[in-house]
Amino acid sequence: MDKMKKLANGLEMPRLGLGVWRVNDDDATNSVKWAISNGYQLIDTAAVYKNEEGVGEGIRQAGVNRGDLFITTKLWNADQGYESAHQAFNDSLERLGLDYVDLYLIHWPVEGKFNDSWRAMEEIYENGRAKAIGVSNFHQHHIEELMTTAKIKPMVNQIELHPTLTQVQLRDFLSKEDIAIEAWSPLGQGKILQNETLVEIGQKYDKTAAQVIIRWHLQSDIIVIPKSVHENRIKENFDVFDFELSEEDMNQIDSLNINERLGADPDNFDF
Ligand code: NAD
Repeated sequence: MDKMKKLANGLEMPRLGLGVWRVNDDDATNSVKWAISNGYQLIDTAAVYKNEEGVGEGIRQAGVNRGDLFITTKLWNADQGYESAHQAFNDSLERLGLDYVDLYLIHWPVEGKFNDSWRAMEEIYENGRAKAIGVSNFHQHHIEELMTTAKIKPMVNQIELHPTLTQVQLRDFLSKEDIAIEAWSPLGQGKILQNETLVEIGQKYDKTAAQVIIRWHLQSDIIVIPKSVHENRIKENFDVFDFELSEEDMNQIDSLNINERLGADPDNFDF
């Protein structure tokens, strides 16, 4: 399995990274440092996580070449709009202590605003300060609306996706459009790790349920960013490149889908 996925603009994005939602600055610093020293290159943060400074500190403490890392952050809802998106991006870079990010995402599809936000993001991309730009929590119709004014198609859509919410229809659309799919809450926020099917499949390969789920994402061509603040779990979650789930096991995991959302529906959010 290739550890990198080529985005539509040719940029290589790591298929497996670390998420840091609901992680404070100090924990973010440690988690990022541990992740990088265990082989991670992709780190997923957001302005609203309020830990960009901690993430930046972890990057510096890890002491690797910036070019070997892939840093994602996101534009928060309150900052959407043309001018405010530019300002929010500058603020994120400053907090991170970086002069570019690898991927900048619109966090949620704020109606009436995301087209203007995108115009700012296209300029940020053209100036080389984000190596790729994309969206998050966009349904098909949001992407279609974005494309009525966009010059550049989003390269990534980061969506809630796990074995109990497999998003088959949206994934089909995104694949046809050559928009890479990235899963948030890929482990179902830890709530599906006791699932018997996943545990049993893991036993066959001498792997944990978390590793089975991460491998299922990877074999489904989904970029995946499990979160943990514990070094042993961060390590465990990256130890997934030495086994391959059979087609039968992949199908069994697919069949766990019950369209269960843990987060808000992008058509109905109030934040
Ligand atoms: P997740 O699905 O990654 O689950 C994380 C939880 O699973 C941990 O808190 C821990 O309880 C458990 N866990 C992790 N590894 C484990 C292991 N090896 N063994 C046992 N338990 C383990 O949840 P998440 O944090 O919601 O999602 C991952 C990342 O996705 C976030 O940190 C964030 O970066 C991103 N995200 C983005 C959005 C968005 O709107 N774009 C929304 C939510 C999350």
